[in-house]
Amino acid sequence: MVTGTVTVDRYGVMGYPVSHSRSPVIHRLFALQTGQSLQYELLRVTAEKLEEAVRQFQRTGGKGLNVTVPHKRAVCRLVDQLSERASTAGAVNTLAFQDSEIFGDNTDGIGLLRDLVVNLGLNLDSANILILGAGGATRGIVGPLLEMRPRTLRIANRTLKRAEDLVERFERMGPVTACRFNVIPVSESYHLIINATSAGLEGETPPYPAAAVSEKTFCYDLSYGIKPTPFSIWARDHGAAHSVMGWGMLVEQAAESFHIWRGVRPDTKAVLKQMSISA
Ligand code: NAP
Repeated sequence: MVTGTVTVDRYGVMGYPVSHSRSPVIHRLFALQTGQSLQYELLRVTAEKLEEAVRQFQRTGGKGLNVTVPHKRAVCRLVDQLSERASTAGAVNTLAFQDSEIFGDNTDGIGLLRDLVVNLGLNLDSANILILGAGGATRGIVGPLLEMRPRTLRIANRTLKRAEDLVERFERMGPVTACRFNVIPVSESYHLIINATSAGLEGETPPYPAAAVSEKTFCYDLSYGIKPTPFSIWARDHGAAHSVMGWGMLVEQAAESFHIWRGVRPDTKAVLKQMSISA
């Protein structure tokens, strides 16, 4: 008697640290909802092991990966074909293995915008926007935010050079400037402040610019947690109008990755509800 072997398509998220990631739960919920058969793993990989780990995953039949902190930029060099948005960002958060080729895309920007504009109802036209952090996630969100035609978009970072590099990359797309956390002009009131540092992962609260927050400011933390993140507490304590964690972006960017891999678009609202997180 011949018994057939059922193979399940394998996906995963690579990062360091990565234990905080809720991507496996989200992709399991997407798979259940859309009737797709797949497994999704949590892969803790250091910078030194990144290439070896990606190649190994591909060699052993893996179909696709999400790439998270701190690998989004470094992984670009392993990609054979970059999407336009990943190429503009110079950062990748989604890999698809197609035959022997690696396709790289970036779904962070579309994920953030779907949450801000569709789920949360923000109008970014003519807004003053401040992004804290200039890492891989910021690379993915600056271009899509500039396409919303804000009045200003300032990138503040602990390491000024990294913020300046991003200004050089994106200034042809719109009004983007760079500074350190402590030199943000106090006369500027921000409509939207986005925390894109990874400081909260270590439970840290860097000296964020308190003067940038007013009672009209919407604060959005890319980081997320079951308990409020350090930045979301900081924003609330400084009188922000709203302080929201990045669950919605997480689900929206995951849905875009799922669509790239499986050709099916899951219902994100239903998944946010299942996770008991309101959009
Ligand atoms: P990354 O490439 O490693 O960049 C980290 C950034 O955080 C850099 O700007 C770094 O500043 C800054 N930073 C780290 N520790 C700091 C500290 N103690 N004080 C001040 N600044 C600090 O990471 P990433 O990929 O951009 O991710 C950033 C965060 O966004 C992570 O927490 C990640 O989980 C989250 N994220 C969430 C979503 C979502 O869907 N919700 C999507 C993408 C990312 P320097 O340049 O000075 O080192």
